[in-house]
Amino acid sequence: MTVRIYDSKQQAIVDLRPIRPGEVSMYVCGPTVQSSPHIGHVRSAVAYDVWRRWLEHRGNRVTFVRNVTDIDDKVLVNAVDEPWWALAYRIELEFTAAYRAVGVLAPTYEPRATASVPEMHALIALLIERGHAYPALDGSADVYFDVRSWPRYGALTRQSIDRMEPAADADPRGKRDPRDFALWKARKRDEPASASWESPWGTGRPGWHIECSAMARKYLGDAFDIHGGGLDLRFPHHENELAQSTAAGLGFASVWSHNGLVNVDGEKMSKSLGNSIFAADLLASVRPIVARYFLVASHYRSTIDLRTAGGSLEGGSLAEAEAAFGRIESMLERARRVGELPERTVPDAFGAAMDDDLSTPQAVAALHETTRAANAALDAGDEAAALARAGEAIAMLRVLGLDPADAVWHSGSSGTSGAEQSAALASLVETLLAERRQARAAKDFAASDRIRDALAAAGILVEDGRDTTTWSIA
Ligand SMILES: [Zn+2]
Repeated sequence: MTVRIYDSKQQAIVDLRPIRPGEVSMYVCGPTVQSSPHIGHVRSAVAYDVWRRWLEHRGNRVTFVRNVTDIDDKVLVNAVDEPWWALAYRIELEFTAAYRAVGVLAPTYEPRATASVPEMHALIALLIERGHAYPALDGSADVYFDVRSWPRYGALTRQSIDRMEPAADADPRGKRDPRDFALWKARKRDEPASASWESPWGTGRPGWHIECSAMARKYLGDAFDIHGGGLDLRFPHHENELAQSTAAGLGFASVWSHNGLVNVDGEKMSKSLGNSIFAADLLASVRPIVARYFLVASHYRSTIDLRTAGGSLEGGSLAEAEAAFGRIESMLERARRVGELPERTVPDAFGAAMDDDLSTPQAVAALHETTRAANAALDAGDEAAALARAGEAIAMLRVLGLDPADAVWHSGSSGTSGAEQSAALASLVETLLAERRQARAAKDFAASDRIRDALAAAGILVEDGRDTTTWSIA
């Protein structure tokens, strides 16, 4: 089974051929932590979360990197009553909470830009050495990428340099061409010393684009499989990432992927219109699992139009999503009253849709088709068929991150006591440790390491003694 994915650079759906078969490396541009997350940010995170889950379902080991841009012009401008780093961290926590609320898995790595400044220096030095970057002509500590030195500049968005807007990131007097963009930005008088770093070109801070190129290289290597992000990042951000990484001689991304944006009542969200739907608004208006269902039901590349009921979120699109998802939940409840749901795999129609550039509208249609079939079997008293269909529905819901029984939708719920949670955790850990003992006995050390790593990723420390293995929460 080959997974197919739309490559924005080739403007075509292509077979995903990972550099290392069975492993997929993904870099997704994360937020600039300057103000609270809105529904567009949540949509992007959910889109790539479903990609990741589907690629894993198809047997790939996915390394998923999503960065945090914690130093940027906008972070400095918005930090009025607090240090810039305090604002960045406060907003980062809001993003983490919003992502977690809608069931987005934590990335494999989530680097902050400020922790990779030496790697940015190395990349800038390489670009200067190769003749694609230069220190500012006006003697400041700025360093620019020389767009005219790189014939492929504009390849991602199919633009010619002459028709591009100037890069408004610095005084054009320091530039060879007004479209040259900043890799390193000299510290300005009014900027705090804490927001600047020493560099071979003088004190300053990185440009936004070089941050992502350096972090992708640091965590995924010189070449990786998929680069993702919102459609609004295609130019200049992704065009510049592509130019600087390939001009430095790196393979960079094989596939460029972009998720669509979210409109509200047919209009683009904007500060001036005051129509932005923040993550907090969304999560206050509808159950988080329904918010995720609403986002997943549209194809990740399409524009989602969120319809309100005269400005109220409790109506319109979200009410429809609540009704549609409620039908699936009611069926599952009915089926569970009949018997235990069997472990089933996803139906072929669902798999084919997901393999075809993650066509979730068709996949969700298959889910509803299965729901109707389960209800019909229940009505007809055919319990075996009903349970089989319900088992398939659960398999599909799991891949979409929408299993109503998943702990993520119940964390902090008052129905479960701490003791019950501890008992459940102990039972799960013991099961995994038993599997690991079996793997070791069979000399399958890869499997045994995988289990230990999975436990470590969940914050559980495993210690092997002479005869016994103990565990603790790290
Ligand atoms: Zn980026």
